[in-house]
Amino acid sequence: METAFISLGSNLDHPIKHILDAFSQIEESDKIIVSKISSLYKTIPVGPQNQNDYINAVVVIQTSLTPINLLSTLQGIEKKHKRKRSIKWGPRSLDLDILMFGRLILKTRNLTIPHPELVNREFVLIPLLEVTNQDFTITKYGKISRYI
Ligand code: ATP
Ligand code: CA
Ligand code: CA
Repeated sequence: METAFISLGSNLDHPIKHILDAFSQIEESDKIIVSKISSLYKTIPVGPQNQNDYINAVVVIQTSLTPINLLSTLQGIEKKHKRKRSIKWGPRSLDLDILMFGRLILKTRNLTIPHPELVNREFVLIPLLEVTNQDFTITKYGKISRYI
């Protein structure tokens, strides 16, 4: 089992419902145990500004999935929420990103771990800090407290 950190975001339809449903759907996988859930944060959009505010959260999981299978599991959940990809960083019903996977550093065409924007995004760092602590080390980047 590895510990992984997943970020959730939504700003379409009923964002809170998308996020709460996603918590249960992540837990439904028999290869994932959700061990911690952050509060829900209302945040202003990054990227195109002509879109609704977001609801963001982070969950900590224990998983026996490989990183790539975890990505496909999360993409399967996004599909259930009718996630469409049109404008880069545009409105979305549900976005699930892998922030970290154990101490793994990976860069492939479809998967970069830790998530390359993690340390640049307050809407991720703040819920991540809530489920960890000031001394938490982001693999490859160093202590979370350097970024907040
Ligand atoms: P951003 O990655 O900047 O947050 P986004 O979440 O809007 O943007 P998506 O359209 O959801 O981008 O995803 C594009 C691709 O990113 C996915 O198809 C996936 O293969 C890839 N990807 C790379 N690294 C990760 C990761 N750590 N978590 C989730 N997807 C990733
Ligand atoms: Ca994202
Ligand atoms: Ca994504």
